[in-house]
Parts: sequence; C-alpha cells; structure tokens
Amino acid sequence: MASNESGNFESVVGSLFFGEIDEKLIFPFPHFSDAQVEMAKEMTAAVDQFAKDNINGEKFDTESHIPNEVIAGLGELGLLGMAVPEELGGLGLDYTLYCRLFAQVASYDASVATMIGAHQSIGYRALLNEGNEEQKKKWLPLLSSGKVIAAFCLTEPGSGSDAYSIKTKAVDNKDGTYTITGQKLWITNGGLAGFYSVYCKTDHEVDGKTVEKISCFIVEKERVGVSFGEKENKMGIRGSETRAVYFDKVVVPKENIIGELGKGFKIAMNVLNSGRLSLGAGCVAGMKTVLALATEHATNRKQFDRPIAEFGLIQQKLAKMAEMTYAVESIVYLSTGNMTKGMNDYYMETAVCKVYGSECLWQTVDMGMQIAAGNGYMKEYPYERIMRDSRIQLIFEGTNEILRCLLALSGVRGPSEDMKELGKISEVSSALQDPIKSLGVFTKFARKRLSNMMGSKQLTKAHPELKEQADKFSSCLGKFAIAVEDSLIKYGKKIIDNELPQGRLADMVIDLYVMIAVISRTTAILNSSKATQDQKDYVLRLTKQICKDARRRVTRNAKSMSKNSDKAVIKISESVVKYGGYGLDIIDF
Ligand SMILES: Cc1cc2nc3c(=O)[nH]c(=O)nc-3n(C[C@H](O)[C@H](O)[C@H](O)COP(=O)(O)OP(=O)(O)OC[C@H]3O[C@@H](n4cnc5c(N)ncnc54)[C@H](O)[C@@H]3O)c2cc1C
Repeated sequence: MASNESGNFESVVGSLFFGEIDEKLIFPFPHFSDAQVEMAKEMTAAVDQFAKDNINGEKFDTESHIPNEVIAGLGELGLLGMAVPEELGGLGLDYTLYCRLFAQVASYDASVATMIGAHQSIGYRALLNEGNEEQKKKWLPLLSSGKVIAAFCLTEPGSGSDAYSIKTKAVDNKDGTYTITGQKLWITNGGLAGFYSVYCKTDHEVDGKTVEKISCFIVEKERVGVSFGEKENKMGIRGSETRAVYFDKVVVPKENIIGELGKGFKIAMNVLNSGRLSLGAGCVAGMKTVLALATEHATNRKQFDRPIAEFGLIQQKLAKMAEMTYAVESIVYLSTGNMTKGMNDYYMETAVCKVYGSECLWQTVDMGMQIAAGNGYMKEYPYERIMRDSRIQLIFEGTNEILRCLLALSGVRGPSEDMKELGKISEVSSALQDPIKSLGVFTKFARKRLSNMMGSKQLTKAHPELKEQADKFSSCLGKFAIAVEDSLIKYGKKIIDNELPQGRLADMVIDLYVMIAVISRTTAILNSSKATQDQKDYVLRLTKQICKDARRRVTRNAKSMSKNSDKAVIKISESVVKYGGYGLDIIDF
C-alpha cells in the first residue's frame, strides 16, 4: 500500500496480504545516520562498562533479585527513559536506537531486560502515548530517572489471552473520583513499582443501555487499598520480580485516567506493540550471546582429535543460528526504520518480530545447548539459565498462538472487504475456477489473480546478485495472495473459527517479511563501501539460505491450504481430550 500525502503509510506486512509490495518502504534498508552511529556507540559502550561492573545474571537468578543500586545505576545511564523526550528527563531515542540499546542490555541479562522492558516498553508506555501534558510533566521525569518504577497491569486470574474479559472494575463516584477493585496476576515489577497502569472495566451509556468498556488508570502504590502478593517462584527471568497486585476499593481522582475513558483496550494493545518490538530486539541480543558462546565452545572443544566446529552436524547448527540471527535482526530494524519514517499502523510488524524472534531465539538456545552438550546441562555454565530465561518470550506480551491468529485475521480483513465488492462468494468461487473466462465479469479481481499467479510483483531494487531470491519472493508473494483469497472463499466468515489455516497464513506472511527484509538489508551491504568482500560473501550466503528455507515453507504452507490433514488433527485432539491424555497403554492391546 502506497504512502499517503501526509507521509504516513500503512503496514508493509498488511500490504503483503493483498499481494502488494511498495518498494519505497523496503529499499533502501534503513541505515543508522552518522549521528545515530555515534550515539549508539557511545551508549552501548556505557552499557558494556556498566554491565561488566554491575550486572551479574547468575547472581540475580540465584538470589531472585536485582539489587536496588543496579536499578538506580540503570536510571542514571538513562536506560529507564529511553523513549521519553529529553525535556522530560529521557534520552528521546527513536525506535531504532531504542531497540539497539535495549538489545545491548538484553545481551547481558534477560531479567534486567525484562525489568526495564516492563517499566518503559509497557509500564508507563500508555502515559507516554496517551497521557496529557500535566500527567507527563508530573510523572515522566520520575519514571525516566528510575525514582519511580512502573508496571503494566492487565492480566487477571480469569483473563490471560482473552484480555477483554478482565473483571477489575473502576466505579465512577460522581465526585471526580473512581473506586477500583480487582486483582491483577503475574505483574512484572509488581512490588517494585510505584506507578501502576491499571486496565479496568468502566460503565458507559450507549443507546440508553449500560455497557462495560475498558479504561486505563494510573494507580500510585501509596494509595489505600493497594497491596501485592509474594514474589512468584518462576522458571526463568528469576531476577525480575513477578507478583499479583490487589486493588481493594482504591480511590483515584479522575485526573489519573490515561487517554479517553472507554478506550483502554486500544491503549493496551498499542502499548503491547512497543513491548513486542523491544522483545524482538531482545531476542536478537540473546541469539548473539548464545551464538558467541556456542562458537567459542565449538572451536575449543576437541573430540576425535578435532575441534567439534569442524564436524558437519555442528557446522549446520552454527550456520542455522547465524541465519536466524540475521533474519530476526533484519525484520526488527526494517520495522523500526519504517516506524520512524511514519508507518502509522505497525501492530502486524511488531507481532511478526515477537513471534519469529522468540521462536528463533528458542531454537538458537536449543542448538547452543546441544553444542555445549554435557557442559550446557550443568548450572556452572550459562546455557541452562539462558534456556530458562528464553522460554517466556513465546508466552508473554501476547502468546505466539494469539499473535498468529491476530496476524492472519487482521491481514485478511482488507482483502475480504475487496472481495465483498465482487458479490456472492459462490460466484467468485466459480470465476476463480477459470479466471480468464471470467475476465468480463470480474475484470479487476481476475486480473489481479492472474498477476498473482504469475508472481508479477517484481523487486526492481534488489541487488543483481539476489535476482533469484527476489524472483522467488515475487512468486511466493503471488502464492500467498492466492492462498488468502482461497481461504476467504473456502471459509468466508468462518475463517475466524479455523485456526489451522490462520496459522499457515501467519507463517507465510512471516516468511515473506523475512525474505524481503534480508534481501533489502543484504542489498544495502553489497552496495556498501564499508563492508569487506568477506563480509559481503557472508551475508550473501546467509540471505540465500534464509530465502531458500523461507520459500520452502511458503510453498509447503500454500499447498497445505487445500491439501492438509486438519480434520484428522482436530479429531485426534478430540480423542486426547476425551481420554484425558494419551489414553493408551502398551499392555492393553
Ligand atoms: C513471567 C511473566 C510475566 C508477566 N508479566 C505481565 C505483566 O507485567 N503484566 C501483565 O498484564 N501480564 C503479565 N503476564 C501475563 C502474560 O501476559 C500472560 O501469561 C499471557 O498473556 C497468557 O495468558 P495465560 O498465561 O493466562 O494463558 P492462557 O490465555 O490461559 O492461554 C493458555 C494457552 O492457550 C492458548 N490460547 C488461548 N486462547 C487461544 C486461542 N483463542 N487460540 C489458540 N490458542 C489459545 C495460549 O496461546 C496458551 O498456549 C506475565 C506472565 C508471566 C509468566
């Protein structure tokens, strides 16, 4: 979808569902300006120094605690107010620098990254996005310095993925105050925070009826009725603290409402967007850390008189880990570049970064563990802690299942509107059997379909060395657009109840976004005078491998849209549920 006159433009990932790609939004790959490079180098060096002296991931994990001095030090470095405008005490970083700096912290310890992410990527993000001037002036200097820590309070015992079903209620006392009652579960920084952004149900009159909507409130820790539970005893990110937070008839003034009353769900979803982006950047950092550890081990560990790095099955793992790191880094920074340029709707990009980033991190950690083998399993080495720390990334800030559904259902919305114009789905269906014959009736639609079949959206700006990959991308994009249309024709509105095709559509769009991001980034590197020939050869190989794997998956997923075993899978799962588990024993039959 093209950019509009104001310079704002819509999601690149969204446009892929239409079989469209605007090369202006892909090429050139966003690069760091000289000023950004200087700032990034200065800040990452400061983080490195601070981390060497203060961040001890193993200790934080064992003691389940990040010392207050460390949090204060992070505040002094500006790491607790990275996106806050400078005049309000922050560093005023754009998305790109924010992610790069966040990743630097994450490369040292996932607990510290979780703590600072919960604080600024989600904890006070609603205030930053939607707060009024007075609220911002009052709070942002305190929050960005770390004098006050923030927490994001959405999840409840009965409401996890289904966030709209929260029960915490804010009742309008009609005297300029609200009374909040409810319980929030698994809140990162739950006991540490002085500033809670709390999502509550509020009553609204709509057409003479009272309906509940969600609103966002600031609740200060000192308010009467605020309390919190014991620290959760977690599997990983143990240094970060997670607690239940209770609100027992807590009275807050209406001045504590963030944004518009009743718009809290949208506010929360926008907040989670920034959380998902920095989470993706944090995954890149984790992958780099593991790859460095695994490389060191593979080079130094000798078996059969040779370093294990010389054995094919270890080489395969090192190569795959590098490919995944390059791919995730490319999608994160293509996204941040476009967000900075004015992409106004980027929730699909951040969902891709979160899902793909967390899954690549998990695979990388698994491979790193396998390379380290026995050592990896011992607590003396960091692999097992990193493994425990990494697992959460697939769960929080929207589970990967929910985000796949979000990607697919949001993505097909646009094309489904277009298809409605064509009249009855059944007619469209018969037209699709023979698009050439139907040209007279469905001219626009059929032409587009033919163009998708032929993969005619060429990438003209890809480096000539990447011509094959660019052509394969075009053909995959065409296949994907056809898969989107076919699933709308097959399922219509019922696509909402069919998660298996949704999952495939999400996986296809993730692969397409990965392909385009690495093609663009590698084009920039191949054209750069700064990169050595060796580096150019390296990224070219990475890109070819990434595109080959992505294309295979897209092709397989496209085929599975019509030929699959979805029904059998559902039936087996129903049997499992009926038997309360596996339900078979070898001694019985
Ligand atoms: C360490 C930690 C820190 C956290 N920090 C915070 C925080 O700071 N603030 C906050 O508000 N929350 C926080 N959470 C909560 C977290 O966001 C939730 O755990 C998450 O949203 C998932 O909810 P749930 O655990 O209740 O899983 P459920 O929603 O019960 O889901 C269980 C499983 O079912 C799947 N599932 C659910 N619905 C569907 C569906 N429609 N289709 C397919 N699959 C589905 C899920 O993907 C998951 O695999 C934290 C959680 C943890 C573990």
